[in-house]
Amino acid sequence: MDGIDPTQEVPVTVPVTALAANYAPLPIEITAAEGCWVTDTAGRRYLDCLAGYSALNFGHRHPDLIAAAHRQLDRLTLTSRALQHDLLEPFAEAITVLTHTEMFLPMNTGAEAVETAIKAARKWGYEVKGVPADQATIVVAAGAFHGRTTTIVSMSTDPEARTGFGPYAPGFRVVPYDDAAAVAEAIDDTTVAVLVEPVQGESGVIIPSTGYLPELRRLCTQAGALLLLDEIQSGLGRTGATLAQDLAGVEADLTMLGKALGGGILPSSGVIGRADVLGVLTPGTHGSTFGGNPMACAVGLAVTELLATGEYQERARTLHPILAGRAGELAEAGLVGEVRCLGLWLGVDVAHRSGREVSERMATHGVIAKETHGNTIRLAPPLTITEAELHQVMDALAQAVR
Ligand SMILES: *Cc1c(COP(=O)(O)O)cnc(C)c1O
Repeated sequence: MDGIDPTQEVPVTVPVTALAANYAPLPIEITAAEGCWVTDTAGRRYLDCLAGYSALNFGHRHPDLIAAAHRQLDRLTLTSRALQHDLLEPFAEAITVLTHTEMFLPMNTGAEAVETAIKAARKWGYEVKGVPADQATIVVAAGAFHGRTTTIVSMSTDPEARTGFGPYAPGFRVVPYDDAAAVAEAIDDTTVAVLVEPVQGESGVIIPSTGYLPELRRLCTQAGALLLLDEIQSGLGRTGATLAQDLAGVEADLTMLGKALGGGILPSSGVIGRADVLGVLTPGTHGSTFGGNPMACAVGLAVTELLATGEYQERARTLHPILAGRAGELAEAGLVGEVRCLGLWLGVDVAHRSGREVSERMATHGVIAKETHGNTIRLAPPLTITEAELHQVMDALAQAVR
C-alpha cells in the first residue's frame, strides 16, 4: 500500500512559537492604545471592553497616570522594602483614607494579595482567635476566581483551573455562592475567615442577592471570623462605588485590591483593612521584593487621586442605565439569555452562538470583548467611555448575537 506506513513513527511537530500556550487570545495584535481605543497592526481601531480584565478602569494611558509614572521613572524606581522611600507611607495613607480602612499591605499581583489575606487570616486565627495549630479553615464560594497559585487553585471549583495541579492545599470549605445559610453551616470553631467576591467577575458578573453580604458580615462577626472580600475586579470604581461592598453597606475585615490599582501601567495589588489583623504580620513573616515599589506607589497615588474625585464612580452610575437598558432589549428580543449588570459591568449569557464566536464577531464590528466561562460575554469598558461609544459597543453586541 502506498502512502502512510502506520508502523512508521510520526515526527513530533514542534510548535512554531516560543510562547507557552496558557492563553487562547483573539487573533488581534495591538500596537497602540489611547483611552478606550486600541489599534492593531493593520491600523484597525477597536473599543476595548475587556480593558485588561478591569485593570484599565481609567482607560489606556490616562494622562495623569502616565505623567505620574514618567515623573517617577526619572527619579526613583526601586528600593526594595529593605529601605524606605518617600511614597510608601503617602500611598498607604491615601488608599486607606479613600477606602475608610486602617492599614495597607502592598503586593504586586492579585493572587499575591489573596495569598496575603489568607496568611494574615490564618495567623490572626492562631494568635488572636486561638485556633489549634494548623487547623484553620476558610469558607469560600463555588465558582469563585481568586487567582492561579497552587493554594488558590486548591479552593477553585473550575476543573480547568484546578485539574492536574494537585496535591491541593487543605483548609478550605467550599459552599455555593449567594447562599448565606450554607456559609453558616460551614462555619465552626476552626473557621478564621469567609472569603468571597462581592460580585463574581470571572464567573460572568454573578451578582448575589441584596442580603447576602450583610448576612455574611453578621455571621462572621457572630462567629468571630474575618470577612475577606476579594475586590480585585469589583473594586476601584467598576460598580459605581469605590468598593462593591460600599453598595451593600458592608465593611470587610480585609479587602483585596489589584488590577486597576496599577492604573493599567504596572502590576500593583494589596490588602486593606483592620490594623489589628494585618498587624499580625511582623517583619520577616511576609514580604515581596517588588511590593510597594516607588513606581507602583507613584501610579497608585495618582489612581487614588482620580478615585477621590468621585468622577469615575459617578460615570459608572450614570452610564449604567444605557448598558443595562440595551442589554435588556436584547434579552427581550430573545437574542441573549440572562443579563446581569452592575455599574459599568455586564455579563450576558449568549444563546444561539458560542461566547467565542460572539467575541470574534464583535471584533469584526470594532469592539473587543472576551467570553468568560464559555457562553457569557462580559463587558467592562473603561469608566472613561462616552455615551456614544457605549451605544457603539451595544450596537456591536446586537450585531454579533443576531
Ligand atoms: C484577576 C483576579 C485575581 C487575580 O489577579 P492576578 O493579578 O491575575 O493574580 C484575583 N481575584 C479576582 C476577583 C480577580 O478578578
